[in-house]
Amino acid sequence: MTTRVTDAVAAAWRDLVDTARRSVTDGLVVGTSGNVSVRAGEDLILVTPSGVPYERLAPDDVTGVDRTGRQVLGHLVPTSELPTHLAVYEDTDAQAVVHTHAVHATAVSTLVDRLPLVHYMAAALGGQVRTAAYATYGTRELADNVRRALRDRTGCLLQNHGTLTYGATLAQAYDRTAQLEWMCQVWLAASGVPGLTPSLLTEAQVDTVADRLRNYGQPG
Ligand SMILES: [Zn+2]
Repeated sequence: MTTRVTDAVAAAWRDLVDTARRSVTDGLVVGTSGNVSVRAGEDLILVTPSGVPYERLAPDDVTGVDRTGRQVLGHLVPTSELPTHLAVYEDTDAQAVVHTHAVHATAVSTLVDRLPLVHYMAAALGGQVRTAAYATYGTRELADNVRRALRDRTGCLLQNHGTLTYGATLAQAYDRTAQLEWMCQVWLAASGVPGLTPSLLTEAQVDTVADRLRNYGQPG
């Protein structure tokens, strides 16, 4: 535990705690059922600790690991989903990762292996969102399933479990979770109307939007 809590690390921790608390007040997380992480240096990832309600997290609770998952900051046990967070940082250019058990997204994860293209905002997640196959929480198997579901995407559903998104910032990762939850709610609302079937977009239509988002300087 030789890593120092610099001003930058302390600020990143405040950001992480704010984002985690926002996931509760926005209704995306109930109790301690989610986790958040953010890169705070070349070989330092701050993570929410396991089983501590977000409103109880204090500045002194800063919890950090290196890229191999070895704890280098703090005394609280890191989130049980650490293997999945580390896999995302290893595979992608993620700077922040958000995991929730948001209700509509979790419901959809029990129904389909990819979210039907009900809305063009799928482009904000890189295209049609896949559902990672179920595996016990906290396992390497779940990390591998998420890895596969995230190929060319910035978010996925976790079967019978929840959501995972990443981004260039905590705000972007969080916004992608909120968009994903919203799209799942739209699909459930539309597909639940008896006798009617929602119209769906084509992958080409979503790709066109992805190009537009890129042209507006917002990474898709
Ligand atoms: Zn979970």
